[in-house]
Amino acid sequence: MAENQSALSERELIVSTVRKFVEKEVIPVASELEHRNEYPHELVRQMQAMGLFGLNIPEEYGGANVDTTTLAMVFEEISRGWLGLAGIIGSNSVMCDVLVHFGADDQKRRYLPSLATGERRGGICLSETNAGTDLQNISTTASRDGDVYRIRGSKMWITNARHGNTFLLLAKTDPAAQPAHRGMSAFIIEKGAPGLTVGRDIDKLGYKSVETCELHFDNFPVPVQDLIGGIEGHGFKQVMTGLESERLNVAARGLGIARAAFEDAIRYAQRRVTFGKPIAEHQTIQIKLADMATRIEASRLLIYSAAEKRDRGERCDLEAGMAKLFATETAAEVSFEAMRILGANGYSKDFAVERYYRDAPLVVIGGGTNELQRLIIARNLLKKYRDDE
Ligand SMILES: Cc1cc2nc3c(=O)[nH]c(=O)nc-3n(C[C@H](O)[C@H](O)[C@H](O)COP(=O)(O)OP(=O)(O)OC[C@H]3O[C@@H](n4cnc5c(N)ncnc54)[C@H](O)[C@@H]3O)c2cc1C
Repeated sequence: MAENQSALSERELIVSTVRKFVEKEVIPVASELEHRNEYPHELVRQMQAMGLFGLNIPEEYGGANVDTTTLAMVFEEISRGWLGLAGIIGSNSVMCDVLVHFGADDQKRRYLPSLATGERRGGICLSETNAGTDLQNISTTASRDGDVYRIRGSKMWITNARHGNTFLLLAKTDPAAQPAHRGMSAFIIEKGAPGLTVGRDIDKLGYKSVETCELHFDNFPVPVQDLIGGIEGHGFKQVMTGLESERLNVAARGLGIARAAFEDAIRYAQRRVTFGKPIAEHQTIQIKLADMATRIEASRLLIYSAAEKRDRGERCDLEAGMAKLFATETAAEVSFEAMRILGANGYSKDFAVERYYRDAPLVVIGGGTNELQRLIIARNLLKKYRDDE
């Protein structure tokens, strides 16, 4: 009980600190930086100082080791201010998660302390031009050459590729393996050696300021000590476990966008007068506000329920899939509803709603598309309700 209470007060402290940071430092500058597509160096420095890069890293390596619910709450708060800023710690936290769960002791000792401070940071290199949802179709290879693996191929859509320095990479160590996932391995890679080029920054609808790039590997050497867990052929499973945590952080990012849009809309609706009364008093607008708030609350509960299951050490594919699907569709729907409530102002860059509206589709597509979430949900339901007769 006492332990429970101290975990709760620690959570409250972390979340309220992040909320204050977002209100004071992030919200006032987010739209301007985003419209200029400018990288938020100063905000990143502040996030490093607050320890936000080490939230899911064990204390013995300098992290805060918060539970999944607290992590989700932090993602919600940051995304309420600016989705792009959450992107800088988002895929980075997936890399940390995989290293914590599957890294060998010496890999944890070498990487986790500097990942916890944010001195080392980056993301995940999974997708390629011809492989996103279908990750077993990647063509990047890693072939053993003495003390190193040589990486050959190109990765696409890599968030934090330019400003990051350390990444989780999925490659084929046995391209002929059947099924393909048995020949896939995960590595922790660092920039520095020749053979790694950061290509163009992809021009995007939203999620600006945080860079998304191509990465080209031309015989890039990765020391054999950086094969995660030290065994070939386990990479696909390791990455899939990391993606379960990503689904929850992306769900929480969707929740943050939806909350921001709702809060802007409900305030605006009380100020904007038409036909002699605030639009909040027109029943059509009230119905919108009620539906928006209900979906937001349901998203929050789905996220917490999945996060608690994960913290009990259970797989939560079904629950995380439902949370990701519902919360991110809610982000898309609520940001559009907020735009309708603001009328022309919602379409203007003078108000943040247009940014939420442009950012929301990323959470629908990223972290596993929502079509894929539906497949995962259905697959798990069919397993649960197997008709053996
Ligand atoms: C801004 C941004 C940042 C990103 N950052 C990263 C990153 O840091 N690292 C990284 O590795 N990747 C990143 N991605 C890539 C992202 O993970 C993929 O875009 C996503 O997984 C979908 O893959 P795809 O784009 O290749 O679509 P595809 O896999 O080609 O899918 C196309 C369409 O078909 C549907 N579909 C595919 N298979 C099925 C199926 N079996 N059944 C039903 N429908 C199906 C999909 O849902 C989608 O609607 C990022 C993407 C974006 C837009």
